[in-house]
Amino acid sequence: MPSDIPRTVVLFSIDGMRPDGVTQADTPTFDRLMKQGSWTLNAQTVMPSVTLPCHTSMLRGVDVPRHGITSNTFQPLARPVPSAIDAIHAAGKRTGFFYNWGELRDLSEPGSLDISYFVQDATSEGDWKVARAAESSIMEQSFDFLFVYLGATDEVGHLHGWMSEPYLEAISIADSCVDHVLKAIKSAGSDPVSIVQSDHGGHGRSHGTEMPEDMTIPWILTGVGIRENNELATPVRIYDTCPTLAALLGVRPAKQWDGRAIEEAFI
Ligand SMILES: [Zn+2]
Repeated sequence: MPSDIPRTVVLFSIDGMRPDGVTQADTPTFDRLMKQGSWTLNAQTVMPSVTLPCHTSMLRGVDVPRHGITSNTFQPLARPVPSAIDAIHAAGKRTGFFYNWGELRDLSEPGSLDISYFVQDATSEGDWKVARAAESSIMEQSFDFLFVYLGATDEVGHLHGWMSEPYLEAISIADSCVDHVLKAIKSAGSDPVSIVQSDHGGHGRSHGTEMPEDMTIPWILTGVGIRENNELATPVRIYDTCPTLAALLGVRPAKQWDGRAIEEAFI
């Protein structure tokens, strides 16, 4: 894409954020990103609808039977599959990962991250710590790809229930955190291209089932080269994120990936 301004592709994962959580909570940033981008509130995650299996599919581009991570306890992959972070770093790009749930540490090979920040605090204050750490790094150095994970939404869902007032408040705080990170990228002289999504939904005080409340996730792609005001009619699966990130960065997708780039979003 011809532009003098460098681009930073950033993937935001808001743990356990339901699509109707986005529509019911106060989310000026997500609302703007949808209006200025291509989005669906009907993307589908994988079974079991649990954090580590779903993030492994998000970052490794394959369904659960292919990667073999079926619970929140990491085990060696059924068959090796390079993650988006591995593929992007191998293409000579600069990568960073900011998060507050430790089990996500195995989403890339050692050495594929130029910067990694972890704080063991999956509260909304922890989300702010993650966002502030990302902001500081962005102001200090340039990145081609950032992965920012915010865990409080899921934690509050388990404590107070999905769609409860505290849960909607946690979504609203995540919305502000995303806004801060995007503004930092712009302040640093780069154009952000962002995907905002979750790993799964939830119902009652849990998730993990095949219920639509657990399986349906928001997926919002916004930035330079992306169609505006474009509600995607095409099905989006969580493992389409990985090849979409590669396409946005001009990186060759790994041949093992099952997902596809959501080109309906591209101008
Ligand atoms: Zn989760």
